[in-house]
Amino acid sequence: MQSGLGDLDELYQEVLLDHYRNPRNTDRLEEPASEVDAVNPFCGDEIHMQLGMDGERVAKISVSGQGCSISQATGSLLTEIVEGKTPDEARALRELFRGLMMGEDLTDDQLDELEDSVALQGVRRFPVRIKCALLSWSALSDALDKVAPAG
Ligand code: ZN
Repeated sequence: MQSGLGDLDELYQEVLLDHYRNPRNTDRLEEPASEVDAVNPFCGDEIHMQLGMDGERVAKISVSGQGCSISQATGSLLTEIVEGKTPDEARALRELFRGLMMGEDLTDDQLDELEDSVALQGVRRFPVRIKCALLSWSALSDALDKVAPAG
């Protein structure tokens, strides 16, 4: 064990528990531009995601579901960085997050883009849980694909 890392993990755990216990952006949208259900059968995690578009941007995103703390916290954290993004920007964030899970070296700027979602980087030490963390992000990708073209 390297000294210092323990404290960092503790801080990250607090972020995750906070999002697990008080998930953000769970209110259902009345007229979503798209919605998807995603399931991680390995853990029993379920995610329901809705997107509301304003022109080219994700104006609203709703995530609800049930399952382990990692899957649910990831969904909540995701909503905070995806809102206001274009589909291309949101997909780029997904690639960054996947890189984080796969142990790629991200630059400080890239880590900044992920904001509090970097709290999940410890998950990469537990390969079986990576699917839990990626569930919401793959739901997002599907939801973006299903957004009806504007107009
Ligand atoms: Zn899980």
